[in-house]
Amino acid sequence: MPLPLPGFFTYALPSSMEALVQVGCRVIVPFGRSKYYTAIVCRMHEEKPEDYSVKPVSVLIDTTPILLPSQLEFWQWMADYYLCTLGDVYKAALPAGLKLESDGEEIVRGFKPKEEVRVRLGEDFQSEESLHTLFDSLRKAPKQLDLLMRLLELSNHFGKERKEVSKHQLMKDEASSAAAFNALIGKGVFQTYMVEIGRLSSLNNQETVVKHVLNAPQQKALAEILQTFQQKNVCLLHGVTSSGKTEIYIQLIEQALSEGKQVLYLLPEIALTTQITQRLQRVFGNKLGIYHSKFSDNERVEIWQKQLSEEPFDVILGVRSSVFLPFQRLGLVIVDEEHENTYKQQDPAPRYHARNAAIMLAHKAGAKTLLGTATPSIESWYNATEAGKYGLVQLTERYRELQLPEIKAVDINELRHKKLMHGAFSPDLLNAMRDALERGEQVILFQNRRGFAMRLECHDCHAVPQCVNCDVSLVYHKATNSLRCHYCGYSIPVPSECPQCHSTRLQMVGIGTERIEEDLQILFPDARVARMDLDSTLQRSQYADLLRDFAEHRIDILVGTQMVTKGLDFENVGVVGIISADNLINYPSFRSYERAFQQMTQVSGRAGRHAEGGEVIIQTYTPEHQVVRNVMDGDYLSLYREQIEERRVFRYPPFFRMVEITLKHREAEVLNEAADWLATQLRGTFGNRVMGPEYPLVSRVRALYLKVITVRFERSEAIADAKALMLRMADDLTKQDDWKRVSVHFDVDPY
Ligand code: ADP
Ligand code: ZN
Ligand code: ZN
Repeated sequence: MPLPLPGFFTYALPSSMEALVQVGCRVIVPFGRSKYYTAIVCRMHEEKPEDYSVKPVSVLIDTTPILLPSQLEFWQWMADYYLCTLGDVYKAALPAGLKLESDGEEIVRGFKPKEEVRVRLGEDFQSEESLHTLFDSLRKAPKQLDLLMRLLELSNHFGKERKEVSKHQLMKDEASSAAAFNALIGKGVFQTYMVEIGRLSSLNNQETVVKHVLNAPQQKALAEILQTFQQKNVCLLHGVTSSGKTEIYIQLIEQALSEGKQVLYLLPEIALTTQITQRLQRVFGNKLGIYHSKFSDNERVEIWQKQLSEEPFDVILGVRSSVFLPFQRLGLVIVDEEHENTYKQQDPAPRYHARNAAIMLAHKAGAKTLLGTATPSIESWYNATEAGKYGLVQLTERYRELQLPEIKAVDINELRHKKLMHGAFSPDLLNAMRDALERGEQVILFQNRRGFAMRLECHDCHAVPQCVNCDVSLVYHKATNSLRCHYCGYSIPVPSECPQCHSTRLQMVGIGTERIEEDLQILFPDARVARMDLDSTLQRSQYADLLRDFAEHRIDILVGTQMVTKGLDFENVGVVGIISADNLINYPSFRSYERAFQQMTQVSGRAGRHAEGGEVIIQTYTPEHQVVRNVMDGDYLSLYREQIEERRVFRYPPFFRMVEITLKHREAEVLNEAADWLATQLRGTFGNRVMGPEYPLVSRVRALYLKVITVRFERSEAIADAKALMLRMADDLTKQDDWKRVSVHFDVDPY
């Protein structure tokens, strides 16, 4: 059942359905007093449950399974590993259109096939004779006659192969009159009928072209990957930005297809699919299917069904959720930008990591997995080196011997003292930008905060307006002249005085993307500036538009949040500026150095992909910081060595597996009691593996207080039993009257 309830439910199968039903088919079943749900048949048996009476299945929806046995197994693995129910996985996995749900009797059909109105001649007018009589009778109705002639022409009526004609096609011509059409329908000359057409067709019909020839280092890497796959199931491809990893993927995909296998190509972000789609489509044409959440649900249903059919897409390019698609003969999974944290699902359950889930998916299918990145996650590097679990292949040169960009760190502390900063800009960055623009090159600026300023601060009492629902400061947005909460969306007009001390001396502190965009228009009045962040890309098309405009050089300077750091490939970027590295480095998480290194290296990699060299300016208060130095030297190994030692000493992954238990409740007191109780229970069993409870960084969100308990297990420990115990304790907690409304959720590998 698509419900967050553990276990399976048993229903009786009416004899009429017995012969038709199979495991993996959907059925509609009654649940509770008046609810109906789409359930999936997992097992057929004759074991009558003892504790409840069995209701009959209401409707059998499918006669062929919509879920393959391998998928069900994968779901079960996910539920077990990530401490959620099979129903949670079901809800996340299936497109909404495949899970009808209803409150009353009527069950709505979720998936709407796309239909088209077509037009044909009525039965009485098929013969030549009757047509001639008709022509005569329409002499005085030239518009009707016109329309009739058009239909005959479009349908190739007098030719050998007749064609079907859509109403849209017929009426497209300006001369076509709706009144004439209706008159012909009235006389029975025209008939209309509906035809179901797929939504997927529009993707296709691309001509395929010859793919690129790999250069020597790329060929070597390809050979090494193939060799690794002889011995290992997973291979990490560590290739500097612009080394041609994508070209290698293309070769591997071709090889898998030639063996009759399917390929799943995972990307961390919808945004990236736009660019990669074009590249893959040129090679694989209509063998390529794309799957992500910004597709309409109907489109997703069609892809799902196509993957179950006899002619599925051979290659699926998609984000996180495409690990749930049916694959009949999966041979290869590519996880591009494997280090990206967007692979991790945060909310709701299942809180899975798509990279790790994909490795499991491939493993179960007997397929291979390639992880690709310029900045490996500490875990993957560990697995590919010390742990010896994965193979490791490296590409150390950029394609065509392009130089990696020159990276420079600028000390903004000193510059501020000397009053040399122009707002957020150091003279070095401004000069580099000016030179690049003069050479006709483009600029990317990275600042990991959206909005105008970070916050509004009272000059006298230093109070900062806070969200009423969450434990965070509000962020100023100039376009709407409002203060907004980035957690819950709460928003107020900008106050004219301090809510605490009524001082009117309010000042902006910190700098967001919106502010930078505005300053740029003053500093570079002739440059075309655009901004890419969550606010400016709410719609699917906006992102694609921005990327296209930048690629076609209708934008000179692109300012953005982490969105601009991701593997975008532009020809003409001369300068990349990192406005404030310190925000990245000082983020309070055991991953902050790793992540800061990744983000800075990735965004730097956008520079000089085709232009000469390219230049990167990192603005920071701590130019001597180890992470800044590592980025400048392109020294991943030093970063890794430091980090892995810290992880070992302070008991973090990959040496320890973390399970984070979050409790939420409206009242802090109730929450505290419940959290203390649970922590005590956990300590009784797991001892000093248990940490907390403590308030997380943001301790109140959407009017709910949060507390977190973390349990760490050594990697070698088998924790299936421990997980079951933890679930039972959480269950015991919510069974107590006072704590019924405390919500408890689990996050395994919470990062
Ligand atoms: P990465 O994925 O490692 O960042 P890409 O695969 O995007 O690198 O390659 C960078 C650029 O170089 C792309 O524009 C790509 O088309 C081009 N390129 C890479 N390898 C080749 C090749 N063998 N032949 C032609 N073009 C290539
Ligand atoms: Zn004040
Ligand atoms: Zn809020």
